[in-house]
Amino acid sequence: MGLFSRDKQKIKIQTTKKDGYSGWLKCTHCSELIHANELQQNHNCCPKCDYHYRLSVDERLKSLTDPDTFQELFNDIHPIDSLNFTDTESYVRRLENAKEKSGHSEAVTVGVCQIFKHPVAIGALDFNFMGGSMGSVVGERLTRLIEHALSHRLPLVLISTSGGARMQESILSLMQMAKTSAALAKLHEAKIPYVSILTNPTTGGVTASFASLGDIIIAEPNALVGFAGPRVIEQTIGQQLPPGAQKSEFLLNHGMIDCIVNRRDLKEKITEFLGYFTGNPPQNNDKKIDESPAPITKKHSKERTPHAS
Ligand SMILES: [Zn+2]
Repeated sequence: MGLFSRDKQKIKIQTTKKDGYSGWLKCTHCSELIHANELQQNHNCCPKCDYHYRLSVDERLKSLTDPDTFQELFNDIHPIDSLNFTDTESYVRRLENAKEKSGHSEAVTVGVCQIFKHPVAIGALDFNFMGGSMGSVVGERLTRLIEHALSHRLPLVLISTSGGARMQESILSLMQMAKTSAALAKLHEAKIPYVSILTNPTTGGVTASFASLGDIIIAEPNALVGFAGPRVIEQTIGQQLPPGAQKSEFLLNHGMIDCIVNRRDLKEKITEFLGYFTGNPPQNNDKKIDESPAPITKKHSKERTPHAS
């Protein structure tokens, strides 16, 4: 319950406020005025301070896939309320609201696409659908995607944003951690690459399973990534966490992730890694890759001040 209430606060902090007239917004991170068009053109990152605002699953897939190449798979599997669960609201009602809010039938969208002409199996979690929480259908769609990648020998790219396991499905949601991890183990044995992308926020059972199992783990700048929230950890260990302890930059310094990549460079970087893994660099994109700035790597990370973020 605690994890979910904190996630709700997070959404508020990240919401830009319209002034009601002209599309001008105030960045909730740096307080500068920015225009909605400018924000949209900049991949929903603040043009002044580069704060990465959340993308919807559709915006995310559009930003990473070649135009008109994404084909959704396994969207015929829909969640049901098998435990007849009600907290302050029934799970059935929550699912209906989430469908309306997100325009999708579950918190993950999976399919196949091309990324700079690389055929790829891709899946993206959707924070607008019950906080991107992993229920049995999220786990099932991901597992079928991984199995599809395995049988068609397609590299896998997963983009995570999640509050963790879906408590309305209790143990059924926790089992998805084992299921997705087992499927990824088979992908690993078959030497098929998997690139995991962590975006703000990625927490709980998603961090503790498939999101942390990438051959390459990329995070967006300043993303909150962790298992339990800071308050729970501090109460458990009886110590205060250092500043920024669950942010991308801290995780990079401590070897939990491989690199931090700005959203505008993400598609090029994924292509670069896929080319490296498959020994098949893309034909028409070499120049673009060379020009894009290098991701912050562990070697360079010492230059950052420890309190950064
Ligand atoms: Zn800003």
